[in-house]
Amino acid sequence: MADVHLTIDGVEIRAPEGYSVLEAALENDIYIPHLCYHPDLKPSGVCRLCMVEINGRKIDVSCKTPVQNGMTVRTDTPEVNRIRRVAIELLFINHPSDCLSCSWNNRCELQKIANFIGIDRDHVGLLRKDEKDLPVDDSNPFFLYDPNMCVLCGICVRTCDEIVGVGNLDFAFRGFDSVVSTFRNQPMLESRCTSCGECVVRCPVSALRPKDVPAPAREVKTTCPYCGVGCSIYLGVRGEKVIGARVDRDSIVNRGRLCVKGRFGHEFINHPDRLTTPLIKRNGKFEEASWDEALDLVAEKFSKHRGEEFAAFSSAKCTNEDNYIVQKFTRAVMGTNNIDHCARLCHAPSVTGLVQSFGSGAMTNSIGEVPDANCIFAIGTNTTTAHPVIAYDIKESVRRGGKLIVANPREIDLCEYADIFLQHAPGTDVALLMGMMRVILDENLHDSAFIEKRCEGFDSFKESLGAFDLPSVEKITGVPSDLIREAAVTYATFKPGMLLYAMGITQHTHGTDNVLATSNLALLTGNVGKPSSGVNPLRGQNNVQGACDMGALPNVYPGYQNVAVPAIKKKFEDAWTCALSDRPGITHVEIFDAVLEGKIKALYQVGENPVLSEANSQHVIDAAEKLDFFVVQDIFLTETAQYADVVLPAASYAEKNGTFTNTERRVQRVRKAINPVGQSKPDWKITCEIAQRMGKLGFDFTNPSEIMSEITALTPSYGGITYERLEKQGLQWPCTAKDSEGTPYLHAEFFARPGGKGKFLPLTYKPSAELPDDTYPLVLTTERSLFHFHTATMTRKGGLETLRPHEDVLMNPEDARILKLKDGDMVKVKSRRGTVQAPVKITESSPQGVVSMTFHFAESPTNRITNSALDPVAKIPETKVCAVKVEKVQ
Ligand code: SF4
Ligand code: SF4
Ligand code: SF4
Repeated sequence: MADVHLTIDGVEIRAPEGYSVLEAALENDIYIPHLCYHPDLKPSGVCRLCMVEINGRKIDVSCKTPVQNGMTVRTDTPEVNRIRRVAIELLFINHPSDCLSCSWNNRCELQKIANFIGIDRDHVGLLRKDEKDLPVDDSNPFFLYDPNMCVLCGICVRTCDEIVGVGNLDFAFRGFDSVVSTFRNQPMLESRCTSCGECVVRCPVSALRPKDVPAPAREVKTTCPYCGVGCSIYLGVRGEKVIGARVDRDSIVNRGRLCVKGRFGHEFINHPDRLTTPLIKRNGKFEEASWDEALDLVAEKFSKHRGEEFAAFSSAKCTNEDNYIVQKFTRAVMGTNNIDHCARLCHAPSVTGLVQSFGSGAMTNSIGEVPDANCIFAIGTNTTTAHPVIAYDIKESVRRGGKLIVANPREIDLCEYADIFLQHAPGTDVALLMGMMRVILDENLHDSAFIEKRCEGFDSFKESLGAFDLPSVEKITGVPSDLIREAAVTYATFKPGMLLYAMGITQHTHGTDNVLATSNLALLTGNVGKPSSGVNPLRGQNNVQGACDMGALPNVYPGYQNVAVPAIKKKFEDAWTCALSDRPGITHVEIFDAVLEGKIKALYQVGENPVLSEANSQHVIDAAEKLDFFVVQDIFLTETAQYADVVLPAASYAEKNGTFTNTERRVQRVRKAINPVGQSKPDWKITCEIAQRMGKLGFDFTNPSEIMSEITALTPSYGGITYERLEKQGLQWPCTAKDSEGTPYLHAEFFARPGGKGKFLPLTYKPSAELPDDTYPLVLTTERSLFHFHTATMTRKGGLETLRPHEDVLMNPEDARILKLKDGDMVKVKSRRGTVQAPVKITESSPQGVVSMTFHFAESPTNRITNSALDPVAKIPETKVCAVKVEKVQ
């Protein structure tokens, strides 16, 4: 876009076409007072404070006046100042006058503007109305709303609508009585507010303000420790305490936005329950021990169980450097490939599926491309709860005119924005997707040029579509044929189309097939290898992508290099100066089975909590009790750690340096904000100390950047990454050389498969392993709460707990009527594997016959009852579908 030339107060400036006069002035350090303008929002022009004189003729609001060539702007004429003064005085007569005692003194925009314009305090005093005495809403644990301070600028209303897409706020009443109110005028805590705090950080006065947040003494830029979006944040620190977090407005990932967990969920860092010393269990009780005592014991015991008697679990919560060291330790010191991590329970099929289709098991495109998609197909992802900032982008795409198709067994929040909602029965994704593909082919909407040039395997795939005529698909999925057809035509027509999915696709015994179905659909429509297209698995935890990239998997070294390929094995043997096993290890669920069979005797568990997170989790407890030696390394004494022989206290993400790799393959820096609490140490350091005590060389790293150097030397896709290069925005792999800028979207010219072509895979529909019957007539599916993360070891340590304090069994009103249940009744949910208890919550969002629960709450450990039947390829358990019955607790 060409620049426009204009003068403001006699200064010649240039501004991009489309800028407003206010934007042009501010960007050139010319201050024009403004209260209702915010750079992230559409201008509203209501405060009338940004008035300027245009071309010596008219006076207008600068926030809504576009720049024009030759335009002359005056910001400081007597008439402009008179109008502004009237505007600010009118605001002041309604506003409390005790600025000096206000907690927002010197941070308040109203005060700043009043000082700039210079108000006539006597005049204001004469006009002053009785001060409002409206009740303050302090129901939210993190912030309050004081309507007495509100200047009705509308920034909060527009933020909640335009950025967050929740629409919780609006103006209520008229004239002097006008206030900002929540939807249905409920207290903030009971309203539909998601507590994201976006309105709070944009409020120009103290009307919406955080509770009890002192100013930080220093700030440290780092990466959010929760979901795979990987938002960039600044941690606020005083002394050795993290007191708050704020957004990094320059981040290309979150672009000035956060969700409730990233903004407020830092209380766990300095929580008194943190582990601060090593613990050794003696006579069934944990006793505090010195590091020497604990590490000597671990080294001695591990030495007795080298080889296939040993297994380790790494963690998607830990840094890349931590994960690299744990897998190196397992392979180079313990001599086995029995290393896995929690990706097995969430996204293993993304790797096994996408590698077959595209040659790379990662998100094909970037988060920043979401708003520009002309169609978004969100299947098996409750994005607003699991990846909130990506949900903001989805809503932005819709606001820009893009189509949104949502496929989910439950009526999730995104449905409010969707053009098409496909409410398919749990576990029927392959049928739904193949049905859509059959329509696309039958109606000649496929991209034959793309298929011809860039794909293989089309004929056998096409043949497999024969079984998926719409009447059959409707019968399997429960979705009306005309809706399936409409979705198929929409996705094939509005390009580029971006397919997003999460664990609704992967956590099935046919999870790999589900993923293959999504990639077939993208190939069929040519929706790969372009911006705002592709197949995009949204990774659940902060570093699932990185833990996989680092080879915390039983069959591959870092960079997905196969352990069974002799040349690759030799490369790692040379680098690590040891003999390595070419026998692939066993996976997560299989490891616990092997413990129960007496094959695995020692387990090293880093940063994971399978007693709550693993399907049919009683088998984890049984296995933990059977182990000869069990070491847990974590930041809290988790439900799993209770079963350990030795517990090693680890530093949290805020206490160490390193990197996380987010869902879009972006490697980003994690920076130490405070020293490790108590005697805790970074995970990489603890593992290195064990290795050194066991006599192994190659673990003498003094800091994580040295570990990253070793990673990049051995991992081609990370080859161009250094800490220095990550300083600003991180880099997206593949980034193979020091001059590579990384790769925002994959498969632009060639797929990463041998031969460079994308592969269609023929598919059949396979029902879930356990379907409802007369004894267990309901389907249980699992989900996530916005306010908690994984097994909630971090999020149940502060205000987030107030926002969601317990489990709920979500149930359709008709099922509740049949079972004679009312909202809040305590129920038992029983499966073939056990029973859990929680209150029932009756909601139309659950379809009849389906109940859903999270797995965040130790008091209601949902995974006691889920099914551990495995996908044969990815070895992921089927946590999304199992048969249950529900009974009222008498
Ligand atoms: S905190 Fe977020 S969801 Fe709640 S009212 Fe403000 S912008 Fe809306
Ligand atoms: S609460 Fe703050 S942002 Fe919202 S209208 Fe009032 S002053 Fe503006
Ligand atoms: S969207 Fe994810 S990464 Fe971003 S602030 Fe929320 S939890 Fe953190």
